[in-house]
Amino acid sequence: MALLVIGLAAIRKKTSSPLPTRAAPLFPLRHQHADPTTEFPDRFPLQVAVLWTAADTSSENPLPLVHSLKEMGIPFLITRNLDQALKHRLVILYPSVDAHTFNEDQAKQLTTFVENGGTVFAQNVFWGGLRDLFGFREFKPSRKRYHLAFVGQDPVLKYLNRPQEREVHLGSESYDEIFWSNGYVLSGGAVALAGFDDGTAALLSHAVGKGRVYLLGLSLMDVVLRSQSNRDFEAERHYVNAFEPGADVWLLILRAWYEAYGGDWVRLTTIPNGQRSVLLLSHDVDWQNSFAPCLDFARIEKADEAKSTFFIQTKYVDDANSKAFFWQSLGLLREIKAGGSTLGSHSVIHSRGFNKFDLGSGQERYANYHPRGLGYDTASGATVFGEVRVSKELLDGQIPEQNTIFFRAGHLRVPSSLPEALERSGYEFDSSFTADDVLSNFPYALPLNLGFEEDSQIYEFPVTIEDEEPPGFANRLPQALEVILANAENEAVNVLLVHSNESAQKAAAEQDLLRQLPTDIGKSDMLNFARFWQARDRLKWGISPGSEGNEVALEVSTEEPVEGLTFAFRRPISQASKGATISSDRHRVTLPEVNSGQTAVIELRLAR
Ligand SMILES: [Zn+2]
Repeated sequence: MALLVIGLAAIRKKTSSPLPTRAAPLFPLRHQHADPTTEFPDRFPLQVAVLWTAADTSSENPLPLVHSLKEMGIPFLITRNLDQALKHRLVILYPSVDAHTFNEDQAKQLTTFVENGGTVFAQNVFWGGLRDLFGFREFKPSRKRYHLAFVGQDPVLKYLNRPQEREVHLGSESYDEIFWSNGYVLSGGAVALAGFDDGTAALLSHAVGKGRVYLLGLSLMDVVLRSQSNRDFEAERHYVNAFEPGADVWLLILRAWYEAYGGDWVRLTTIPNGQRSVLLLSHDVDWQNSFAPCLDFARIEKADEAKSTFFIQTKYVDDANSKAFFWQSLGLLREIKAGGSTLGSHSVIHSRGFNKFDLGSGQERYANYHPRGLGYDTASGATVFGEVRVSKELLDGQIPEQNTIFFRAGHLRVPSSLPEALERSGYEFDSSFTADDVLSNFPYALPLNLGFEEDSQIYEFPVTIEDEEPPGFANRLPQALEVILANAENEAVNVLLVHSNESAQKAAAEQDLLRQLPTDIGKSDMLNFARFWQARDRLKWGISPGSEGNEVALEVSTEEPVEGLTFAFRRPISQASKGATISSDRHRVTLPEVNSGQTAVIELRLAR
């Protein structure tokens, strides 16, 4: 008996202490202090000019427009100079226009610009001196407008074809007040394109001379960035598994506006290789019996030429929620990684209270981090840094060739310090929100502190479809497919999360879904698509006239290697140089791989 006890103690010691780990360095936060007007300079005529009208940099910054225009692949510059802005065909006035923004001469200049064929998109114009140009008699501020509906037909509403896009919520009526909106009362000649419940216009259009203006009675800070930071007033109509484009509608309006009035426009598409959309596959592995089924998922994915990212809970402590299970899974993790799947972190203790954890010191290591789940959403000794750093340390130390840069929070609970903890620990990507919750189906740069001021280096890939909501994934395939098709119409992205706690039904359902996927919707693991998105988001590109009248030169330079970059053109493309591929409708061109630090110039001949 005594011998047996000693034997067990020896085994325990052996399996739980001397693990090879690889500590993540603690990086400083990279604050982005660059002036937006130098970060986004004037480079070529096709760029949309954003005239930043705020008097000082502490005022509403252009971050929501940076997000919107980059996500939509619309080239743009930011300037404070009206003369410079008016050299471009399309001008956005942001964040507002009041009595101090322009003098009388500048107001005339702006009016002449529109009369001569220019197009302006503005938000929150308050100045009486521009009422005639923008086509309103008065505006009514309120913090009690909870929805709006788009009305009529207009080129800028081109992408808003589904009921969930024709009407959106701004916030839940359970709040006495939400953010400010300005309802416009139209004057003769202007047309309402979106209306609030009180009959005022949320978006109007006014033709003036050869040009046209659009005026929005909301701030993109509130309807785009606030949603992406999940600081919205619960504007979402569902939490997960439904099509919720509440923030995307504004991005799609800007895209349609650019395509309607941008002349011979060119746009960087969101999906690689000319496809309409993509389904990103992922699994959360967060229970001791969730490891073995991973092999079944990896197998059916391989059979359908797909791959997935497995988010691994590195549970190495016994607590109120479960026993430790990380050690026993190592062989299997190495196997699925060697088979071509990619791995991310799904925290250490997977706490429902993660969103309430303290940030921690950043010194958390496997050797000194002893978190314990205590009850439903309580824990002791746990920090945000501990959960992200120690899980990475273990995965990187235990799995050959592993560098963990993708994170997903347990129970999708997100503390506002998560972007900082991830960035400082060397992560690059996160998938802890649902698309419905953030009202967006496009990946985006995750703002630091989930705030409004500056982006972190982390990109967010929100979860579109998951497996647990009743009646279960296998019984919801038609609904899942419909959401994917709705996103494909917008060139948006879908993220599928299937827990690997069993594979008998779920792997068969996933296989069904993969086989029903239209061929112009790609499938990818999350990590590889995220690398594409990061390179795409940081890409510098421009277009200039070529040697002959119908030729253009597309110049791209990238810091990260990137394959499949696709540009859309208004005019059909008849010829492309350097191994670039023209789509069958001739309006898209896909570039060959561009290496890191490389600048590629593609010569294109456009049809008349
Ligand atoms: Zn989980």
